[in-house]
Amino acid sequence: MRLRRKKNTPIRFERCADYTLNTEGLKERFYREFDEKKPLEIEIGSGKGRFIVTLAEQAPEKQFISIERVIDCIVMAMEKAQRKELENIKFFCLDAGELTEYFPAECADVIYLNFSDPWPKARYAKRRLTHRRMVEKFLPLLKKEGKLCFKTDNRPLFDFSVEEFTAMGFRLEELTYDLHSTDTPNVMTEYEERFSSMGTPINRFVAYPTQATYNFFEE
Ligand code: SAH
Repeated sequence: MRLRRKKNTPIRFERCADYTLNTEGLKERFYREFDEKKPLEIEIGSGKGRFIVTLAEQAPEKQFISIERVIDCIVMAMEKAQRKELENIKFFCLDAGELTEYFPAECADVIYLNFSDPWPKARYAKRRLTHRRMVEKFLPLLKKEGKLCFKTDNRPLFDFSVEEFTAMGFRLEELTYDLHSTDTPNVMTEYEERFSSMGTPINRFVAYPTQATYNFFEE
């Protein structure tokens, strides 16, 4: 996806500016903006935001953060939250690789990666959000007892990710190659709806970091 900016994006962004926060000094004042006692869930690469906005709507007792690096997309996600007048979600137009600059360690109970860009060419493997060099960058945000949920229609990306997460010492649970044939409660993303309507099965796993994961990154 190109990082383009539509002409009216700045004005639309301005109109829903309540749904983002100034990132300057955010890490230091994080627990004045978010309630430390409430669960916090983060989606990285939210696109147009249907998934995370629906979660926020369904769970008013939890807090949600949406990360998306394309401003044209995130503005649509922010508008969805605004239309629903949600009070438990914030949006940040940031890259996954820079999150530790703005968010404190171990703030998140759950991190979601949904239909992440596959970067099919081997020479771009390091750009995949499930590549160890990328995971290393955002893993510090996850609580030690937290979990990371990943789903994708892309089987080669999924197979790569299973290998990568196993190598990183995560414990994989609920692994399925056909999510919609299971009875796991599921909120569909925009991409998920598009691919599953074309008959593509959806792959999913839930990954729990273990001591081996932290050892892996210390070496
Ligand atoms: N989760 C959405 C969108 C999937 S497309 C859905 O399932 O419908 C993948 C999204 O991740 C794109 O919007 C892309 O801009 C975003 N993305 C890719 N790499 C990213 C990165 N490094 N940091 C933040 N967002 C990223």
